[in-house]
This record gives sequence, C-alpha cells and structure tokens, in this order.
Amino acid sequence: MTTMLNWLTKRADLSPDHDAVVLPDDTTYSFKELYDHSTTMAHFLQQKGIKYGDHVAVMSPNQYRFIVTIHALNMIGAVSFLLNSRLSRSEIAFQLDDGDVSAVILDEQYRDQVDHQNVIAIDACDLEESVAFQPISIDLETTAHVLYTSGTTGQPKGVQLTYGNHWWNANGSALNLGLYPHDRWLLSLPMFHVGGLSIVYRSVIYGIPIHLHDTFDVHAIHRDIMERGVTIMSAVSVMLDQLLERLGGERYPEHFRCMLLGGGPAPEPLLNQAKTKEVPVYQTYGMTETASQFSTLDDDNALDKLGSAGKPLFPNQLLIVHEGESLPANQVGEIMVKGPSVTSGYYKREAETAEKLEYGWLKTGDLGYLDDDGFLFVVDRRKDLIISGGENVYPAEIESVLKGHPDVIDVGVVGQTDSRWGQVPVAFIVSGKPVEDLDLDAYSHAHLAKYKVPKAWYDIDELPRNAAKKLLRHQLQARLGE
Ligand code: ATP
Ligand code: MG
Repeated sequence: MTTMLNWLTKRADLSPDHDAVVLPDDTTYSFKELYDHSTTMAHFLQQKGIKYGDHVAVMSPNQYRFIVTIHALNMIGAVSFLLNSRLSRSEIAFQLDDGDVSAVILDEQYRDQVDHQNVIAIDACDLEESVAFQPISIDLETTAHVLYTSGTTGQPKGVQLTYGNHWWNANGSALNLGLYPHDRWLLSLPMFHVGGLSIVYRSVIYGIPIHLHDTFDVHAIHRDIMERGVTIMSAVSVMLDQLLERLGGERYPEHFRCMLLGGGPAPEPLLNQAKTKEVPVYQTYGMTETASQFSTLDDDNALDKLGSAGKPLFPNQLLIVHEGESLPANQVGEIMVKGPSVTSGYYKREAETAEKLEYGWLKTGDLGYLDDDGFLFVVDRRKDLIISGGENVYPAEIESVLKGHPDVIDVGVVGQTDSRWGQVPVAFIVSGKPVEDLDLDAYSHAHLAKYKVPKAWYDIDELPRNAAKKLLRHQLQARLGE
C-alpha cells in the first residue's frame, strides 16, 4: 500500500497562490481557492449522505464545478463515474445500473436525461461558505474512477482506474514532455473522457493551471494560445484542423511548446499542414484503459517521425503481437501494452478482463507496427480491418489520403460485402459538392494501391461521431444495411 496526502491538499500547501484554473472570461482560481471550494463541496456531499467507497456519478459540462466535484469526491474517497452528457437516456440508465451507482451529481440541464432516486444538483452547494473538511489520504491502489470507454466499437466498458494509474500517467507524461514553472495546459476535451480528466490530475500534481473551456470555441482557444500564455494543449484531429484554419498565416508564440494530438488516427495532410505552420504537434497514443497517454513522440523526433505516436513513456512497455508471437520491426500486429498506468480491469466484466489482460499485458484491439528505430505507428482498430481478396485494407489509411483532396471536408471508410473479394472498401464523403464531381477515383488511384481504392462513393452531410469526435464506423456500416 502506497499512501500520500490528498494531491490537492498537498498542492494547496506547496503553491497556494498559483493559478489553478483560468476561465475564458479571465476568472481565475488559485490552488488555495480550489482547495477551499473542494472541501466545502466535500462537506456538502457528505451531508447528503455520500461516504467512502460509494459509487457516485457526475454529469456536468466542462465547468469549474466539475473539477471541484472531482476533488471533493476524492477527498471523501468515493469512486466517481464521470458520465458522458451526450449519451441518450437509455445509455445513461445502462451505465448507472452497470456501475451500481448510488447517487448522481448533475447540472440541472441534464436532469431529464437521468432517472435515479438520488440526484444532487451540482449548483446546490454554496462554494463561498468555506467549510473545513479533512480529506482522506490517497492510496495508490484504490480505484478513483470508473470511466466508460468511448463506445466506438460497441457497448462502452467501465474501466477501473486507480490513483496509481493517474499518478504514473502524470509522471510518465512529464518525463517525456518536461515540466516548466510557467506551463499552462489548455483543457477543452471533455473531462468525462480520460484525455480531459488526466489534465485535472496533471494540474495538481505539477502545480500548473488549467485553461478550461466548456466548448470547443475555436476563437476563444486561439486567443488563449496567442495571448494568455498557454504552453500545452491536448487535442483531437478535428480540433487541430479548425485551429490551423483559424491560425491562417500567423504563427503561435514561441512559448506554445506542445500540441498533444491523440484520441484517434491523425491524417497525414493535417500533420503536414501543422508542420508547415510550425505547430509543435506531438502525436500520442493512449486509451481509457491506460489512463490516457501511453506513448508519445518526443521533441527530438517530432518532425522526422511524422505520423508516429512515438515510444512508450518511461514507465511503459509495448509489444506488437500476432498469434501469441512478438513480431519484428515493420510488421503489423496487435498492440499490447503494459505499465503502471494500465487498468486492473473492467468493472464487473471478469471474463472480458481475463480475456484482455494477461500478466499485466493488455490487448488493445489496435493494430500497429514499430519501425526500425522502435517508433510506434498505429494503423487502425482490429475490428475495422477490411480484408479484401486476402489483402489487409486499413480504413484509416484511405481516409488519411482522401482528406488530402481539396474538396473533401470529411471522410469515413468501411468495408462492404462483395461476392468476388469478400469485402471491398467504400467511402462516405462530406463535401460541398456531389461526389460525382470530385473525380475521387482518379485521385485515389494516384495515391493508393488499386485494392485500397474505394469501390463506391456515398454523399453524406455529416459523419457520425461520438462525444470524443471519433468516427463511429459501425453506424456507417449500418447505413449499408450490413
Ligand atoms: P471503445 O473501447 O468503447 O470502442 P474507444 O476505444 O474509442 O471506445 P477510448 O479509450 O476513448 O475509447 O479510445 C482509445 C482508442 O482510440 C485506442 O484504442 C485507439 O483505437 C484510438 N487511438 C488513440 N490514439 C490513437 C492514435 N494516435 N492513432 C490511432 N488511434 C488512436
Ligand atoms: Mg477501446
């Protein structure tokens, strides 16, 4: 058992006056204020009957009170389930039931989405009242959160994450990216996903402020980077795309040192555009099961290993495996990960946990390879692999190429059943023009092997994406009637 003082308690003691959270309207909270607000909230929640070990769901927009509530629940020792507010009523009901949740803390706007006998309004606590509360210590082995996966490939799974998982994740990231006293991390990813939540922990462990954004307002985020000293931002590719457009011919200030890009495949044209505009993109690979970032490019290799998600962070290890054998360089297989930030398993899913986790090694369900220098290239999800005439076709590769077409705004590729080839790739295209006018066949033949060229093109107004902006390929598949 490894115990520490509650992290926010420690941080408020070490750097009480440092900025902890900065909002777009310039409202700023120091670590001392965040601590006081969190103890007040912890006291309030305790009065409402929440106690050590309880399973408590939180449903909030990306607002300051969400951060306060996360810390308050940690201070009590409750296990928090951070719910995706974009889910439907029945999806939420599933998670509340699946997670044995005894109370739901929510923002009023979500009340109609939740059916539970014990609902607490997140606004009901007067934070200014300043009530003392003695936070319990942190035991690294204890489960802090159960976070549901994005549900990109099916039913979301409740991933148990301990304080230790977060601790090692924050440390592994700092050992790779470095840490400076003037660092400021922009958070616009939802905190109910691990990419957003991990920044909440990094902020208190490192002692650096979060620049918190409730929504992805490209102008407000651009201004934060240009004018307010942000040094690091975590983003997914659709965000980076919009930011680059907003950037136009300008350049980010020198102190903006890292655009951590993850969550899904990064299209090559986007990476090239970022390079041209001198945006310091660090591609990263991770998942809910690894408490976010698992492997990341480093400063030395950011430019010459474009497209790679780097090497596992210092505490982590990775293997590429096929049929139980570890593969040599440049061969595609399943990515297996091991390290202290990897989950101990899925809540109440013993069979799935046993199937995916063996001797600490987690089968990620992702395909990738290591190049000659040991750098990871993520290829696609195993479930999305299209096998066409015996050849492996990766939808992400085709999407990446098609995104380079000047009239293609967005694209999703899936496999369609074919009597001759088994499966063939087909593409759904978002464009201001009809697909017939785009000459996509010729464009694809110029950039892709013949068997990878989509055999059908479909117009679509918008691609189905989840709250993490990930493409839901199974919904595209359903449109094909498969
Ligand atoms: P579910 O497990 O419910 O299907 P999900 O896997 O999308 O949902 P997350 O844990 O949020 O849920 O996402 C992790 C996944 O995102 C990884 O397993 C991988 O497929 C994808 N991903 C993350 N980083 C990258 C990357 N750099 N390149 C390609 N894919 C990535
Ligand atoms: Mg997953």
